[in-house]
Amino acid sequence: MSYQPGRQFLNIPGPTNIPERVLRAIAAPVLDHRGPEFAQLATEVLARIKPIFKTTQPVLIFPASGTGAWESALVNTLSPGDTVLGFDSGQFALLWTQMAKKLGLQVQTIATDWRRAPDPVAIEAALAEDREKKIKAVLLVHNETANGCMMRVAEIRQAIDRVGHPALLLVDTISSLGSADFRMDEWGVDVSIGGSQKGLMLPAGLAFCAVSPKAVAASKHAKLPRAFWDWEPLVANTGGNFPYTPACNLFFGLREALNLIDAEGLENVFARHARHAEATRRAIRGWGLEIVCAEPKDYSRSITAAFMPEGYSADGFRKLVLERFNMPLGGGLGRLSDKAFRIGHLGDTNDLMLGGALFGVEMGLGAAKIPHKAGGVQEALNYLADQSGGAARLAAE
Ligand SMILES: *Cc1c(COP(=O)(O)O)cnc(C)c1O
Repeated sequence: MSYQPGRQFLNIPGPTNIPERVLRAIAAPVLDHRGPEFAQLATEVLARIKPIFKTTQPVLIFPASGTGAWESALVNTLSPGDTVLGFDSGQFALLWTQMAKKLGLQVQTIATDWRRAPDPVAIEAALAEDREKKIKAVLLVHNETANGCMMRVAEIRQAIDRVGHPALLLVDTISSLGSADFRMDEWGVDVSIGGSQKGLMLPAGLAFCAVSPKAVAASKHAKLPRAFWDWEPLVANTGGNFPYTPACNLFFGLREALNLIDAEGLENVFARHARHAEATRRAIRGWGLEIVCAEPKDYSRSITAAFMPEGYSADGFRKLVLERFNMPLGGGLGRLSDKAFRIGHLGDTNDLMLGGALFGVEMGLGAAKIPHKAGGVQEALNYLADQSGGAARLAAE
């Protein structure tokens, strides 16, 4: 491969760009993971991660990618043959239900056309019909990274409460944590699942399960086999006492990432993501392309997917953009494969980085001779210019 000068624009919806300060924090000499210095670091990080989930409950950290936290949430709270309510509403929601089946759970599925988040009314109806209370858990994906639709967790919680259903509420926040508002305690979430390589601006390698008292109580009776993913030693762990070697250097990185989030202010981080999501949608409409998420109320804050015009390959387009402009874009996943491309706008990014990414897409559309209108970038730039300094206004919305 020849040298490609300049920076690569990494505009996939995770893994995301890692701030230099975080990279430098990770590049620290290895610590004794049983020594006092790591215990102090772990204690600090375990406490400071809680506000990111808006919880006061324990947050358990595994050395794994987010998929591990999916498994951990299931095996600690459920027993063989239990029924869970899952969603065929996008590739990640679907993959989680497939994992549940592999683990010996029965899955009842609510499907969408993959262009909207599941309707809280449909969830309420499914739970109301379950008079025997067979459904033990509901598996939400807060932000469906495959199509850019967000589930309205607070409304779903209200729906569950209206029918008085006791199911646990498990929520994958992997691509929304640190990018879009998520309120574990206020929304009555029982397990919040996170990963390090998206909004938290770290490499992959830390998986999070924030656990409610109800989830911990369920774990005392749950009978799915578990060993590595067992919560028990971690719930008791308030400091550095992990039952295996933790990913110590990623803890240095997490501490620095939390410093950056604190310095910007969590609500300002959310407002920045909201602005970038809106600017991206304006660009896509400006090009005359169609946004995959069909419902404005479901729009994601961290990723936007766009359809290619009929008869044009999204993967061919992405290949051209990568080769010509050194910019990876997200591909369509599952049934959106080759039909859509995804722009990630989460993590350590700013107006000019987003502008550069949109510039690359517009040039790519031209270079690939894909029917489109010129000027999408200009729509985005007009919006960003007009809103600069308006972060507080958006955060208040
Ligand atoms: C990325 C992602 C996953 C998978 O996480 P890994 O860290 O790749 O294992 C699961 N769910 C969602 C919503 C994601 O965005």
